Amino acid sequence: RPTSQTVLSNTAARCDAPAAGREPTIHQRGQHEVFCGLTSIIWLHRKMQDAFFLIVGSRTCAHLMQSAAGVMIFAEPRFATAIIEERDLSGMADLHDELDAVVERLLKRRPDIKMLVLVGSCPSEVIKLDLSRAAERLNREHAPDRRVIAYSGSGIETTFTQGEDSFLATLVDECPVAEADAAPSLVVAGSLADVVEDQFSRIFQALGIENVAFLPTRRSDRLPAIGPNTRFLLAQPFLNEAAKKLERRGATHIPALFPLGEEGTTAWLKAASDAFGVDPARFEAVTAPGRERARKALESYAETLSGKRIFFFPDSQLEPALARFLSREAGMGLTEIGSPYLHRRHLAAELDLLPEDVVLSEGQDVERQIDRCHEADPDLIVCGLGLANPFEAEGYATKWSIELVFTPIQGYEQAGDLAELFARPLRRRAALKVEV
Ligand code: SF4
Repeated sequence: RPTSQTVLSNTAARCDAPAAGREPTIHQRGQHEVFCGLTSIIWLHRKMQDAFFLIVGSRTCAHLMQSAAGVMIFAEPRFATAIIEERDLSGMADLHDELDAVVERLLKRRPDIKMLVLVGSCPSEVIKLDLSRAAERLNREHAPDRRVIAYSGSGIETTFTQGEDSFLATLVDECPVAEADAAPSLVVAGSLADVVEDQFSRIFQALGIENVAFLPTRRSDRLPAIGPNTRFLLAQPFLNEAAKKLERRGATHIPALFPLGEEGTTAWLKAASDAFGVDPARFEAVTAPGRERARKALESYAETLSGKRIFFFPDSQLEPALARFLSREAGMGLTEIGSPYLHRRHLAAELDLLPEDVVLSEGQDVERQIDRCHEADPDLIVCGLGLANPFEAEGYATKWSIELVFTPIQGYEQAGDLAELFARPLRRRAALKVEV
């Protein structure tokens, strides 16, 4: 198992958007425990099936990726690390030449790669290796058969879901430009499991919303055209930079709750339906069966979850949306909701639905937060891997936040699975309790 990295730094709020909704109770600045943005490659490489992620980093980066990817063994892997050696760091080698040679070898061996993604790391940034320039140069050589793009996954000031944000922001630059008179279109931004994407596609189709694309696309040659007639829905709350890039292209954001649970999914679909002028009766007819199935699935978790108290450490940036779902649809009590950054504009609707008395914290000062957690004495703690084991040893039930990004949890059909993710550790902890 990977251990999360502890870094000392300032975690000042990073929201450029005007404040909306409620403000956090606590702004934390201090030591925080996070995975870096490279980690997002673990789900991104599965999503874009003809892309290859080449991390330009150190052995530490390679080890992180190997251990975070766990026991997955690929006949044809779709990510790797080009390791910067000591002689590279000391300036004895021309890194651009070395990188070109690695890319040459890789593309010769793997003709199936249609998009090569160079991923920057702390080491490549420290030595100021300009990967955007490298991508431009490699593009001149390999286009149009292959496209080469670059983004940064480096970790000092980021959390792991920001890797996806940086990747999508770069991908928006690659999307064709839609003309001002193009037909209206909908872009759903944020990685969703294929099964979830297929379910939403069917619902949009039944609602009569046409020209729907999901970003990232499954294939690199199917990037949607984006322009003033594009509206976009966020499927994930951590896409600050990607949303800004879409808006710079003239696309309009559709504000909504995130599609977690019955309530979130209905609100998310309704926001899109209203933006595209879908008749309310049609919306009702299309979504009623899914809503009913989600409500039924959630009923069976009431006994395990209702009345239990949960504490969120900041990690995935999904925390406020998950807390809203757990408090309103599963009856859980909220103690503290920590999130690395609160993108207030995107989270306004979520924050408005949280109970008034909940502690909302942004950033992290891990020791103080551990103290607050002990004081709150919750039934379940959602945190990174580095904190989970010590809490388990103390007798607390924990849930790894990274699992919530890997698992299909959005949409009506997954509402029960989402509740199950929180019910399982509680049941396990109850089963392990030995009466003396
Ligand atoms: Fe560590 Fe930075 Fe590499 Fe991430 S990018 S594994 S934080 S060295």
